[in-house]
Amino acid sequence: MGGIFGVISKRNCVTELFYGTDYHSHLGTKRAGMAVINQNGLFARSIHDIQSSYFRIKFEPDLPKFDGNSGIGVISDTDAQPILINSRLGRFAIATVGKITNVEELEEEFLAQNKNFAEISSGKTNQTELASHLVTERETFAEGIVYAQSRIKGSLTMVILTYDGIIAARDRYGRTPLIIGRNEDSIAVASEDCSFPNIGFESEYILGPGETVLITADGITQLVPPQDKLRICSFLWIYYGYPTSNYEGINVDDVRNRLGSIMGAKDDTPLDVVSSIPDSGTCMAVGYARGKGIPFRAAMVKYNTTWPRSFTPISQSTRELVAKMKLIPNYSIIKNKKVAFCDDSIVRGTQLKNNVKALYKHGAKEVHIRISCPPIIYPCPYLNFSSSRSPLELITRKFIHKVENAAPADIYKYSCDSCPEYARMVEYIRSKLNMSTLIFNTVQEVVQAIGLPKESLCTHCFDGTGHDT
Ligand code: SF4
Repeated sequence: MGGIFGVISKRNCVTELFYGTDYHSHLGTKRAGMAVINQNGLFARSIHDIQSSYFRIKFEPDLPKFDGNSGIGVISDTDAQPILINSRLGRFAIATVGKITNVEELEEEFLAQNKNFAEISSGKTNQTELASHLVTERETFAEGIVYAQSRIKGSLTMVILTYDGIIAARDRYGRTPLIIGRNEDSIAVASEDCSFPNIGFESEYILGPGETVLITADGITQLVPPQDKLRICSFLWIYYGYPTSNYEGINVDDVRNRLGSIMGAKDDTPLDVVSSIPDSGTCMAVGYARGKGIPFRAAMVKYNTTWPRSFTPISQSTRELVAKMKLIPNYSIIKNKKVAFCDDSIVRGTQLKNNVKALYKHGAKEVHIRISCPPIIYPCPYLNFSSSRSPLELITRKFIHKVENAAPADIYKYSCDSCPEYARMVEYIRSKLNMSTLIFNTVQEVVQAIGLPKESLCTHCFDGTGHDT
């Protein structure tokens, strides 16, 4: 999905920029970048591939070349960024989060006007460069951002580093968050406010959907007011977000905990113990234990000493090997037990199938899987999540297309948790992955756990709704 961070200060703020950006590393796996306006007034920039190493390891040697009071950083799924632009609006650096789904259409339009694209990412036009072209179509940054947001299909949140300050613009429907933080002499803006506490910032303001602000070391000026309609991604709370982060003031761990307790309270399956597939299922499992009144135990433990993160290995078989090697099952907890395992979601189901197999191999009597969200049926058109996969890679779509041969118009029936089609699909997944039982939370339960009105949330990947463009 990616994350962005920016900071401006009355003093050198490269350290805050470095660590603030690093605290977004859980959101992306491919590229990262930082850009700073140095004391000499020149832009300095670094971009690295972070598929084979950590952000900090890659960027630490670059720090001597950064020496400024303002900068932006990004963890990016695809694009090499920030992009440096010299335009009629002046020189600037821009970084974005989100997904433009009409890249080809906009690209053709610009090429027909004899405009060029300098950056190619993974063989495609760099969407951050495309955004910069759209922004510079107008007389001011504020007008340009409004214009860009009106032309973009998908969603795009951006930070722009200029000589006048940092411009922060949340996407039109607020699908991705932007939060402002402050300490005594600096102001920061971040996708994740978990980046604030350890670098001395306190959250101060949440940008509304489509809102744009100019941040200087002295304060914040609103350039574009927020619009009314919010469609924040519900999957932020389920999977993307760090447990200590807050979106719209609602904490991620709290929501995951509620998702677990809601399910535990309604689940009458006889069970001995609940555990999680670490790390993302753990907050839910703690809540589930409370809701059901059974103990939580760490039946699968991640070997953090040498497997802290699986750097996107190239092949599926290597990915599976890494997933298997880094989780160690605990015999003493599993053997002869009826164990419930909480996990955030099922996409393809491959890893979960291997985990279930390992649990039986290590003596579990029954393996019951509890998933914090509903089945994912629709690819995400707004962020780089399931959008990068073909719909048929989703285990749900495999069933719908290959087994049921359902007409496209009937797909919604599989997201209706009271419909027989939904029950057949869940049973297919259960038996395919060899689980004793399988329960998903419903869309209504996700909405209840988050606590925002349904119409303020995007739940498109579960039920196909929230589809404003
Ligand atoms: S489709 Fe799913 S992942 Fe994408 S923005 Fe909506 S809720 Fe989030």
